[in-house]
Amino acid sequence: MIVQVVQTKGTLLLNDNRESLAKAAAIIKRGGLVAFPTETVYGLGAAATNAKAITSIFAAKGRPADNPLIVHLSDRNQLNLVAREVPDEAKFLADKFWPGPLSLVLQRSEYIPAEVSAGLPTVAVRMPDHPVALALINLAGVPVAAPSANKSGRPSPTSYRHVLEDLTGKIDAVIKSSTCKIGIESTVLDLSGHSPLILRPGGLPREDLEKALGRSIGVAGDKKNSLQPASPGMKYRHYTPRAPLILVTGRESVKHQVLNRLALYHHRKGFAVGLLNTSMQQHLKKNSDPEKFAAKLYSYLRRMDAAGVDIIFAEEVSFSGIGLAVMNRLKKAAARVLRV
Ligand code: AMP
Ligand code: MG
Repeated sequence: MIVQVVQTKGTLLLNDNRESLAKAAAIIKRGGLVAFPTETVYGLGAAATNAKAITSIFAAKGRPADNPLIVHLSDRNQLNLVAREVPDEAKFLADKFWPGPLSLVLQRSEYIPAEVSAGLPTVAVRMPDHPVALALINLAGVPVAAPSANKSGRPSPTSYRHVLEDLTGKIDAVIKSSTCKIGIESTVLDLSGHSPLILRPGGLPREDLEKALGRSIGVAGDKKNSLQPASPGMKYRHYTPRAPLILVTGRESVKHQVLNRLALYHHRKGFAVGLLNTSMQQHLKKNSDPEKFAAKLYSYLRRMDAAGVDIIFAEEVSFSGIGLAVMNRLKKAAARVLRV
């Protein structure tokens, strides 16, 4: 097979065949940065053991230095390398949910440089459920640290095109592959403290974790857990589209009406209006499938940017299943939350 290479401002666009992945792995081995697909979002990968490469991830993204990265594995046994100790609960959850959208926060071993975790004594680790990601990590021969492959503050990338929009000229290569089937980042579960705590809701629903562990699990930032700090990344207002997003929450019947009226009012005033509920409603009605909406959320936001809308109105969705992660992202994207 042929290694197809397209160069744009110094960033290679690689195929996802074996030969191209070997090339991508070689870039990682020599300390470079490669964007690759996972089932959640595209990641920006570097060798997790190379502090200099890790520092260049932060520079390429413009990521705040205190926001730690997730380490990606291709083999369950690598867990013993990156974590100082692996509690039984972590072993159990890794066996049950990996490969998959669950990142476990454990005590960091000395194998992983402090830069990966922004100086924290812990490390977040997961095994992605995507054949291209797994092959790449395997060929690189080291765990791969990877945040989402977007410019910091922009909606996460769920296609290689989104990566090119944000990072062309700033990274060594992008692997051109399929879009990400979950489309929302992993659930980050802290197992380094007394009891498990969700630091960031994500692709693996809280209910699935609760069922597996046979007890309820808190979410950092909830009223009950408000004294617990959320994951460092959660304090930033990110996932933002360029236009201000107004999130309408509250009673079902009123919410929908208010949203439509607001949209109409702004439209009549001459604003280009983006409505996140229209596609949402269609999706939910047509497919009764909140997962499909979640998978499209970031690309909807990017599309509205590209269309140059002036203002976006979005409607609250149910907090169950993937909805908890969707609402978390919508709240972070929102310039204002309207309760009706
Ligand atoms: P991203 O790489 O953009 O998907 O973001 C990774 C998320 O995982 C951020 O919210 C980080 O704050 C969180 N995270 C990564 N490592 C740790 C850690 N050691 N402790 C707590 N949160 C972490
Ligand atoms: Mg991110």
